[in-house]
Amino acid sequence: MVREVDETKYISIQENDLDQKILEEDLFYNITKSICPKCKKTIDAQILVRKNKVLMRKRCSQHGWSESLISSDFEYYRAIERFNKPGIKKLEYQTEVKEGCPADCGICPEHKQHTCLALIEITNRCNMACPICFANAGGKEGVDLPIDVIEGMIDNLTSSESNQVEIVQISGGEPSIHPNLLKIITKCKERGIKTVMLNTNGRKFASDLAFAHAVKNAGLNAVYLQFDGFEKNTYDKLRGNPNLLEEKLHAIENLSLTGIAITLIMTVVKGINDHEIGEILRFVHESKGIMGVSFQPLFAEGRLDLKYDPLDHLTTIDIIKLIEEQTGFYTKEDFFSIPCPEPHCSACSFSYIDPDTKEFTTIRRLIEVEDYLDYFTNSTLPTNAEQVIKDALEELFSMATTPGSINLVEGYCAACGIDLNIGSIQESLQKYVEHLKMVMIKPFMSSYDLDIKRLMKCCIHQVLPDGKIMPFCAYNTIYRDQYDLKDFL
Ligand code: SF4
Ligand code: SF4
Ligand code: SF4
Ligand SMILES: [Zn+2]
Repeated sequence: MVREVDETKYISIQENDLDQKILEEDLFYNITKSICPKCKKTIDAQILVRKNKVLMRKRCSQHGWSESLISSDFEYYRAIERFNKPGIKKLEYQTEVKEGCPADCGICPEHKQHTCLALIEITNRCNMACPICFANAGGKEGVDLPIDVIEGMIDNLTSSESNQVEIVQISGGEPSIHPNLLKIITKCKERGIKTVMLNTNGRKFASDLAFAHAVKNAGLNAVYLQFDGFEKNTYDKLRGNPNLLEEKLHAIENLSLTGIAITLIMTVVKGINDHEIGEILRFVHESKGIMGVSFQPLFAEGRLDLKYDPLDHLTTIDIIKLIEEQTGFYTKEDFFSIPCPEPHCSACSFSYIDPDTKEFTTIRRLIEVEDYLDYFTNSTLPTNAEQVIKDALEELFSMATTPGSINLVEGYCAACGIDLNIGSIQESLQKYVEHLKMVMIKPFMSSYDLDIKRLMKCCIHQVLPDGKIMPFCAYNTIYRDQYDLKDFL
């Protein structure tokens, strides 16, 4: 594994006189827990404001001080803390509370949110070997998990959520190359999972239309398709192959023919493809089969054959500002945190270009979303009509929302106060499914910026072959190295 992190920027900062002066000017904002990026020991972490940027500063008794950027804009960081609703407890726990978070993962009874979205990694094999891969997949050593182990994972998940799982993402490695994929999808549907998604690089879908039809017939609802931009340099640096665009476009074409809903996943890296964000959004709005896009700033876990500076990387607000600058039609105000996880875990917008008038709008421009999702200042009980809107907004602004579904359009209409019982409206809803896009920013954490406050309310959970279920960020930062899929063959 190559790991190129510029450690001079964040280790042993106390030894540097200039940085001491900066420290004196820091505003101490908060304290949380994190881990040492070297030995992963749980340690205290200060949240500091330095020149309007928010930093995490922490010290390991063995490895010294480290600092990382967690938001480029303090005002934004503070403002979104209002969007934080009470969690729902899980019905079953897989571990006990013994040593405290994050040593007790999981899910332990102290966890504050149930599973909105579950990830099941069925293989660590891959038909690519990208320079960046948090799953560190694609090596010669990879294995596919056996079908009985995977079925056990699905059963464990569904029983822990009283058989009401909203979304499962089948992941890897590259899950499309698992020989039992169709059976796995069928099993998920048999267990009543509403939306079954596949996280894929798209390679198999590009070359095999029959395969796309087969997974659709097995019950697959949607894919998360790796799509980092349009330029050769982007694919060269991030995926190790400059000529991937055509393949990605073929995958989109084939998936669109089957009706599987597509969400593009763009890993955004400062100085490499962050100038392509606007182009991707224009592409999403022009494409019928693409229902949304998720921008994921690079986080430093797994294989990282790229220079990464913990003090100079993209944060959520950077992406929002780039969207505003590069599109000219979105604004910062169009984005909200999803309130089911901790508010710093996401930003989201629902947007729409009217097929007839070509007018662009977002849900924020139609309704005062914060009047309903600000859980700190709204203490009065809502009226019945307000409750309907609040419920609809909570369903929309959830990690369990799937782009490209009729439910999404219904939720959008309900939130905007449109009466769905009028016959003509029901008939025309389907027409709007392809025009309503979900734009998400997902800032996953690495061991440099891991905040246990966020971890404890995580609703994106990794289901593991030994029966445990844990936050995706806990798995990637702390636990992944402890699992070898070969032990489950
Ligand atoms: S992250 Fe959640 S499940 Fe894991 S130890 Fe903390 S509270 Fe428990
Ligand atoms: S990032 Fe995805 S496509 Fe690339 S090696 Fe990892 S699993 Fe494979
Ligand atoms: S996976 Fe990470 S970023 Fe996402 S909700 Fe969980 S803790 Fe937050
Ligand atoms: Zn350490």
